[in-house]
Amino acid sequence: MISINNILKRNQLSVTDSRKKILELFQANSGALSHNDIEKKTAEKFDRVTIYRTLQTFVEKGIIHTIPTPDNSVLYALCKDECTKGHHHDNHVHFVCDNCHVTYCLDSVVTPEVNLPQGFSPALIDVVVTGICKNC
Ligand SMILES: [Zn+2]
Ligand SMILES: [Zn+2]
Ligand SMILES: [Zn+2]
Repeated sequence: MISINNILKRNQLSVTDSRKKILELFQANSGALSHNDIEKKTAEKFDRVTIYRTLQTFVEKGIIHTIPTPDNSVLYALCKDECTKGHHHDNHVHFVCDNCHVTYCLDSVVTPEVNLPQGFSPALIDVVVTGICKNC
């Protein structure tokens, strides 16, 4: 696992408490995290705005990516090394467990091709599979 300081340095980000703490949370969790999860786990420390800005910065830098949810909120998960500033390569399927409600990045499962009718050009394909995860 790459150290948190290295990730920040590589992305020309200064090391701040909020950035360190939030990256730590992502590295410690196997599933994706929502803004609320992060807020709860860092409750005493950072306000909503700080968390929001930190997450936005990480998304812009290609450190984390967003995952849409059926209730129109957003989850965040760590990216792999191929992601760079302004350029994400997270073409994997996401899995949401109906039992424990954890969202997983299935890094080894590539998003299937979608054949669109003529005149439609896809910008982003998000595939979310629901079911029961291996831990349940
Ligand atoms: Zn990414
Ligand atoms: Zn589960
Ligand atoms: Zn993912």
